[in-house]
Amino acid sequence: MIICKTVDSLHKVLGTPVYNKATIGFVPTMGALHQGHLSLVDLSKKHCSLTVCSIFVNPTQFNDPKDFAKYPITIEQDVLLLERNQCDILFLPSVNEMYPEGTAPKEYYDLGYLENLLEGSFRPGHFQGVCQVVHRLLDIVRPNSVFIGQKDYQQCMVIKKLVELIGMTETDIVIGGILREPSGLAMSSRNMRLNDEDKAKATAIYQTLKFIEQHIQHGPLLPLLSIAREKISEAGFEKIDYISICDASTLQPIETWDGREKLVALVAAFLHGVRLIDNQLLN
Ligand code: AMP
Repeated sequence: MIICKTVDSLHKVLGTPVYNKATIGFVPTMGALHQGHLSLVDLSKKHCSLTVCSIFVNPTQFNDPKDFAKYPITIEQDVLLLERNQCDILFLPSVNEMYPEGTAPKEYYDLGYLENLLEGSFRPGHFQGVCQVVHRLLDIVRPNSVFIGQKDYQQCMVIKKLVELIGMTETDIVIGGILREPSGLAMSSRNMRLNDEDKAKATAIYQTLKFIEQHIQHGPLLPLLSIAREKISEAGFEKIDYISICDASTLQPIETWDGREKLVALVAAFLHGVRLIDNQLLN
């Protein structure tokens, strides 16, 4: 695997005759890699002739400075995992390389209602930061396809909207499924901040999503959501940002289900200061 720390060095490598006719698959990450990330590398390898993974903990998408400060960094292990999974290129830029003119936003991305819903309402500015970094990365890497995870359901919709807004519609956005621990806990870099006991408690999110999937019926959904909320609180989560059932294609919350709309249930909750998110398509 070739590691490029600068835009120039990445462009030199991508411009070499071996690579300049390649179809580029791109997997953007913030590192602390796990099987979920590696499943996206595998997906990229199936679709494209060259796979570029980036690791960059983007400061502009953290609305909580403590979350940024505590974000796990395991770069040596990440390099080993990417090599083992035959990733071709790792782009590993510094903050200066990504934002040579500073981190202040240069552009406002009009995401419409997506900006202030669910994640957006609890993490103000988060999706502007996501768009800022993904826009920059797409400009640098110029991929044919980008591989992202359903784990960040709303982020997938935001990135699809972003490629429209910046006119990169020829870039294919491919969404990979959620990789889970055998317990059902969705893999996440933030799980590294949980001890074994907390990890066991954290499975309540998946169990609750499954409970919703099994018990959903057409008609009012609020009674089911309040049972679900209770289950997560009882498991020891100190704060639930949201637990919501939404239209799977628009993400608009649904209070009364007609029995036909495609739905997704989404959760964000804190366990001992660690914010976990997960979701499940319901029908
Ligand atoms: P992150 O490093 O958390 O920014 O994630 C980088 C990419 O990996 C994003 O597209 C995530 O949606 C995806 N991802 C994170 N966790 C998982 C998972 N458990 N399964 C599949 N993809 C994931």
